[in-house]
Amino acid sequence: MPLLLQLDALTRGAVSLNGELPLAELEMVSLDELVEPAGPLKYNLVAEKNGESILLEGSLGMLLNCECARCLKTYEHRVDLRNWSCLLPLKGEESVQITGDTADLTPYLREDTFLAFPQHPLCGSECGGIAKTAENGGIPAQSGSAPEEPENENVWAELDKLDLK
Ligand SMILES: [Zn+2]
Repeated sequence: MPLLLQLDALTRGAVSLNGELPLAELEMVSLDELVEPAGPLKYNLVAEKNGESILLEGSLGMLLNCECARCLKTYEHRVDLRNWSCLLPLKGEESVQITGDTADLTPYLREDTFLAFPQHPLCGSECGGIAKTAENGGIPAQSGSAPEEPENENVWAELDKLDLK
């Protein structure tokens, strides 16, 4: 079931909305293969009439299965939006979709949860990653100036080309 709000109920005051939206209901497709929704979207909200709008306030949460961008380890990440709020206009071009006397709140919850997905998932801020660890192990500590010389020559060669122009 999508999250439907009875507009009629709002005229009598604030309405509490608690529950969860199953993933099947959300049709949430992650754009990042490293981030996969793993659990329902849990919500704990209060809806209130606010002039010509509905004000939604509360918290949203969802469990994600992430793959660390550095070391490829899989780990769980919880999207946790506390003090989330959203103003849904009842009139105008951006107004909320109303069917009969019910407004479907699902798209708003889905979108903001989606926006809270990690952009560059890391298993931890200290993660060194596999590539970096291998590099440090493979290169002797005192490699000195020898590998740098050819690089410098290339730099001068590039500058020479520029001078000719
Ligand atoms: Zn990692």
